[in-house]
Amino acid sequence: MKITDIITQSKPSLSFEVFPPKTNDKFASVLSAATSIAELKPSYMSVTYGAGGGTSQYTADICTSLKALSVTPLAHLTCVSSTKEKIHSELTNLRSHGVENILALRGDIPSGFERSEMVYTHASELIAQIKSFGGFCIGGACYPEGHPESENSTSDIDALKIKAESGCEFLTTQMFFDNNILYNFLYRIMKADIKIPVVAGIMPVTNASQIKRLMSISQSALPQRFVRIVDRYGDNPAAMKQAGIAYATEQIIDLYANGINAVHVYSMNKPDVAAAIKSNLSEIIA
Ligand code: FAD
Repeated sequence: MKITDIITQSKPSLSFEVFPPKTNDKFASVLSAATSIAELKPSYMSVTYGAGGGTSQYTADICTSLKALSVTPLAHLTCVSSTKEKIHSELTNLRSHGVENILALRGDIPSGFERSEMVYTHASELIAQIKSFGGFCIGGACYPEGHPESENSTSDIDALKIKAESGCEFLTTQMFFDNNILYNFLYRIMKADIKIPVVAGIMPVTNASQIKRLMSISQSALPQRFVRIVDRYGDNPAAMKQAGIAYATEQIIDLYANGINAVHVYSMNKPDVAAAIKSNLSEIIA
């Protein structure tokens, strides 16, 4: 099933994410986590793509397993260190695994990489190639607080417009912890006449050490309300987990209440976190 058909239904959607292992010895445990999350019957599941592409076969294999469990997979694919030929063979491989949906990303530019040597400089070029390959529903990433490389929010929205014109059919947001940031962003993209659906990405922060790492990659603003939770419960892992799940649940309920029907949870291979969120929303998404 196409992701666009799932996220545009009147019923709210709730999807989860898993990331593949870096090494083969961890594959069985990641697959087991993905299977447990799939048993929660999410609207779909995304499977990330390891930076550099060295683990792309794990992404494809996990997608196949999800399909066997009747969960629609969304395979991530990055292009920053790839070539047109390699991407062509990745697409052929994903098709042979029955994958219909791709989240097309540029990826982070590896340190020491010369932009002049890059075959792909932006995700829109990958999106155009996937579109001409044909047969995939294509998504892309967006950044309610701006992408770290962008000069300003206007240039970021201009880039999104190019993404949509290149064939991107839906967007998934970077994590955010203040829903007003998303609502402002949706208003700005509507004004730019970008009409493709947006899936809100929510990260349940379940331990204090996660936060520093997340902030360095996403530059998301932390509302005072959230900072106080971490200050109070950061040293108590069980309490921090409970509070983080509750905070994410509240964000999701507010999104649904404001008409944002598609929510994607960065569940980080944690079936217990995914299950707790699903259970907190049982009547809401019934
Ligand atoms: P782009 O859309 O190319 O944007 C990068 C920068 O270029 C932005 O500043 C943008 O404004 C600008 N830009 C874009 N297009 C143009 C244009 N045509 N002209 C001028 N400027 C332009 N990384 C992984 O390695 N694996 C993953 O699985 C993965 N999944 C992700 C999922 C989501 C939902 C998100 C939000 C991010 C994910 N990332 C992943 C991280 C992502 O690869 C990085 O954030 C990367 O730096 C940018 O990728 P992008 O596809 O957004 O790039």
